[in-house]
Amino acid sequence: MKQTIDLKVFISTQDSSCGECRENLGRKAWITLNDEKGALCLSCADLDHLIFLPSGEAALTRRARKHSTLTAVVLQWSGARKRYERQGLLVEAEALEQAEQECLADSEARARRREREVARRVELDRHYVESFAERVRDLFPGCPAGREQVIAEHACLKYSGRVGRSAAAKNLDENAVRLAVIAHIRHAETDYDELLASGYDRRVARAQVAEAVERILAQWETLI
Ligand SMILES: [Zn+2]
Repeated sequence: MKQTIDLKVFISTQDSSCGECRENLGRKAWITLNDEKGALCLSCADLDHLIFLPSGEAALTRRARKHSTLTAVVLQWSGARKRYERQGLLVEAEALEQAEQECLADSEARARRREREVARRVELDRHYVESFAERVRDLFPGCPAGREQVIAEHACLKYSGRVGRSAAAKNLDENAVRLAVIAHIRHAETDYDELLASGYDRRVARAQVAEAVERILAQWETLI
């Protein structure tokens, strides 16, 4: 059930670009390291649906990790201390919510939660999310109600915060929307995340769920 490994995400200290989508990520981008391709942006690594929980709240972190299928430790190199330092944990949104509820008895946790919600809302560009959601609905009329919103918020997060400003070319073309939908299906409708969490190579895991993804994509493309 619960994964045995934490994936690692690094906050880069220099200019980097993604070895898969080739996007220039700018400085301080959040990346994973891949044996073949070098740095990968979190979207290509299929980790961009995870929410960042900064270090410092031990109980919340412990509970969130327990509830999250997929987690990644965020590390940053400290030049002064000459070692990687842990900045926090990337966890699933639902796992964080569940953990927060368990911590809610504590009024301080309640206050922190409000702060985080405000921060998250600021991150989302409302207008972009709306346009993106509309595009998803047009191109995938068979997708379950409400999913277009989830997919759009995701796509919007990708272009803020964790990706360098240089990569902020907000894209509404059919291919970009399609890729966002595929990524969503992979992680919401298949056991891809469980495969990653149990240590499968991303390529092997993708191949394993490819057929299921194609089938669901075809369903969503048709109006039932
Ligand atoms: Zn990429």
